[in-house]
Amino acid sequence: MTKVLPGTIDCDIHPAVPSIQALLPYLDSHWREMAIIRGIDELNTISYPLNSPLSCRPDWKPAEGRPGSTLAAVQREALDGFGTSIAIANCLYGIQLFFSEDMAAAFARALNAWMVAEWLDKEPRLRASIVVPMQNPELAVDEIERWAGDKRFVQVLLLVSGDRPLGKRANWPIYAAAERHGLAVGIHAGSNYHNPPTPVGWSTTHTEDYVNQAQAFQSQVSSLICEGVFSKCPDLKVVLLESGFTWLPAHLWRLTKFWRGLRMEIPWVDRAPSDIARSNIRVSLQPVDGPPDAASLNRLFEHMQSDEMVLFSTDYPHWQFDGTEAVPHGISPDLARRIMVDNPRATYARISETVS
Ligand code: ZN
Repeated sequence: MTKVLPGTIDCDIHPAVPSIQALLPYLDSHWREMAIIRGIDELNTISYPLNSPLSCRPDWKPAEGRPGSTLAAVQREALDGFGTSIAIANCLYGIQLFFSEDMAAAFARALNAWMVAEWLDKEPRLRASIVVPMQNPELAVDEIERWAGDKRFVQVLLLVSGDRPLGKRANWPIYAAAERHGLAVGIHAGSNYHNPPTPVGWSTTHTEDYVNQAQAFQSQVSSLICEGVFSKCPDLKVVLLESGFTWLPAHLWRLTKFWRGLRMEIPWVDRAPSDIARSNIRVSLQPVDGPPDAASLNRLFEHMQSDEMVLFSTDYPHWQFDGTEAVPHGISPDLARRIMVDNPRATYARISETVS
């Protein structure tokens, strides 16, 4: 395996909750009792079926238990394995599935407390995202405020598919809180499955579900820009995680074209959407859903018209790349350095504050 450059920041790894038993000590007594009485036995996300090849690289699959569910495994396989200096833990767990706003808030609080005690306090190379109960923006802001003083939290984590487009005004207090505290907002592939993951209804297979995530990301980029989130929060960085990025240039061409014709409808969008995206939106590297040859891949980076948008990620323990190489062949050394080191540092100001 090719090691990454010194100072590399892996912007998307997934330490896993081993079982709900691990969270129970971090719930307050009422919600601990509720979890037991109601028989809530597991909340592991259903976006990643355990035996799907995407869910785990074969050599990262433990004899028992969930991939990436022990600190030793994450240290050995993600941190030491690639030689990353810092990795951002985005814990995917079914907090967003709840219909009860209060229960979602209680589990988000427990999950973040678990992340501090079981991961951040034990491994200085780890940073994390604050998981919030998107069911209620007011409670989501409470959760941001609860952890914002801990600089090891560098991001607020949302799922790409939920109950409403993310740009809606109801969510703006979340973005304002993130901007106020210098936190990025990460939007990860995944859904609360309250609605079909596609605009045309429910699909049948995991393949469709996974490929169609890109449609949801496109919708959210349009929503965030057109609703005016970046006019309200000009310093906010939104990071699309596990989104792929080959669709982004074409989507921005389309969005910018129709903005030109329809801009009287959204006068607060006072710059071309493609310009806003280049200043405020970032994407994680894996999965590289690009062409197989280096020349075509480099043309794609040219289409993005920016070398600042892509952030290194392995998506550990998910397996998104050929073999063991998380960085595609053929990109220039300068771009590789930007992707691995410079771009993540520019995006996550809190990391630069705590690492020289
Ligand atoms: Zn991911």
